[in-house]
Amino acid sequence: MSKLTLNEEALRRRTFAIIAHPDAGKTTLTEHILLAGGAIRAAGAVRARGENRRTQSDWMKIEKERGISVSASVMTFEHAGADGVAKMFNLLDTPGHEDFSEDTYRTLTAADCAIMVLDAAKGIEPQTLKLFEVCRLRDIPIITFINKLDREAQDPMALLDEIASKLQLDPAPIWWPAQSGNRLRGMVQMGTGLFQPYARKPAGSAEDVPHPDALPLSEAQSYFEEGEHAELMEAAELVEGGYPAFDRQAFLEGHMTPVLWGSALRHFGIDELLAAIGDWAPPPKIMKALKAAPAGTRNAAEPVPTTIAPGTDEVTGFVFKVQANMDPNHRDRIAMFRMASGSFKRGMKLKVQNTGKQLSVNAPIMFFASDRELAEDAYAGDVIGIPNHGVLRVGDSLSESGMIRFAGLPNFAPEILQRVRVKDPLKAKHLKKALDGLAEEGVTQLFRPELGSDFIVGAVGQLQFEVMADRLGEEYGLEVIFEPSPFAEARWIAPTADATKADVEDFMSKYRGQMATDIDDDPVFLAKSSWETGYVGERFPKVAFTKTKERG
Ligand code: GDP
Repeated sequence: MSKLTLNEEALRRRTFAIIAHPDAGKTTLTEHILLAGGAIRAAGAVRARGENRRTQSDWMKIEKERGISVSASVMTFEHAGADGVAKMFNLLDTPGHEDFSEDTYRTLTAADCAIMVLDAAKGIEPQTLKLFEVCRLRDIPIITFINKLDREAQDPMALLDEIASKLQLDPAPIWWPAQSGNRLRGMVQMGTGLFQPYARKPAGSAEDVPHPDALPLSEAQSYFEEGEHAELMEAAELVEGGYPAFDRQAFLEGHMTPVLWGSALRHFGIDELLAAIGDWAPPPKIMKALKAAPAGTRNAAEPVPTTIAPGTDEVTGFVFKVQANMDPNHRDRIAMFRMASGSFKRGMKLKVQNTGKQLSVNAPIMFFASDRELAEDAYAGDVIGIPNHGVLRVGDSLSESGMIRFAGLPNFAPEILQRVRVKDPLKAKHLKKALDGLAEEGVTQLFRPELGSDFIVGAVGQLQFEVMADRLGEEYGLEVIFEPSPFAEARWIAPTADATKADVEDFMSKYRGQMATDIDDDPVFLAKSSWETGYVGERFPKVAFTKTKERG
């Protein structure tokens, strides 16, 4: 095979995530996409996680038992589309439970496209809406997959109307379902009139049967019962006239979503979905960045805005997630590095923009569904895992020059704050180290009050504290107790546009007892109630109290 150029390598990559309300079928769909892509041979490989996710600690144990591969936050596979061009797919995993939504938001910063899975009986659910809004904010185009057609579904037109009205997004049906549940016959392709029949699992059989080959709807009478065929012909005509045709530009700009249908569980509509991702999802995009010398270096000038095209020679990218414990025998952490440009070669030296630290990336990892392998080379759009001992954090930008910084990876103010104490006071020192480690992964946050020796831990949901207690026990041998903290809210503080550092310092000196620092040593105000947050906000108009902090 002739060698591809940097640009061609970037153009054939599809980096995407699946967003869904819990139970809509994200895990099942992930598995069946991997199956359709030839990345796994049998269903069941990814299964364990979906069913055990409700109790995250069980899930972690299962991961350990099953080995490291199921916990990968990205899965890579190569698959050729109808045009014969082999594409590289990077499927980013996002936790479904809403207590982990912060993690999901950050993962979406590394995705170029999202598959929105809806349960055909339920339509748009609360978590779908939240995740959709994040995609919209980040201009991530959406492909819709309406799942569980093998069960009784809502009227398809009602589902499309809901997409239009709740998401302000034009739905363009690519296929149209021929009924659902026990009467599901298949689906018809808009524009071509091609009919894809659905084969029901034979009663009493454990095995699914393959779905028959597609054929023109006009020749597909045998798949229907009395009257149904004519009805579908009519409906297809109506739908074609009633909805806009798919327009890729409108999709890429976030105004339109192509709508596909199927049943993840019955592997129906999956090949079609994979083809849509390959054909329509965008390749890695041109990213906005800042160019500046690392802090503390000579010539440290003001950062200048720049853009990084995927075909740029220099290797650049950012860390969107840090995972610990992927290998139970090692205490190392794996930073998930999304490449924005360049041609990465194993052994390359990359610099961290924020700190100026340099690291040799000798053992980068690529994650395949059943395996993880050393990454010899990687391109824009790819995600590689970089093992390190706490050098890399979420939000860090890495590049060859050390001068490129991608902004915009958010930290969200936690919704729950608790005080954490270790049962054995002799181990207090270890606790700090352990908490730092967990906070570096970006899932929980650690606040160190200026006065006293307490640690305040913040998280978005209660479940995170449970996971944390579990991990502190298992990984660090620390038995901890969480106690209510006197604080209800945490806000990052900074001078407003017309203010100076002195204004913030004035505030800080007045509220010393409620000041803390986060793991980056940035100042945080801990408020006793949301009322107090409002109160200080009014009293100190020169101080900005923010709920999010952009790292990087
Ligand atoms: P997640 O929470 O979104 O990851 O959802 P899962 O993939 O774990 O699926 C939730 C439940 O729905 C499981 O019991 C699945 O077996 C079931 N499920 C997923 N897809 C389908 C489908 O296409 N048809 C039917 N009948 N059930 C499905």
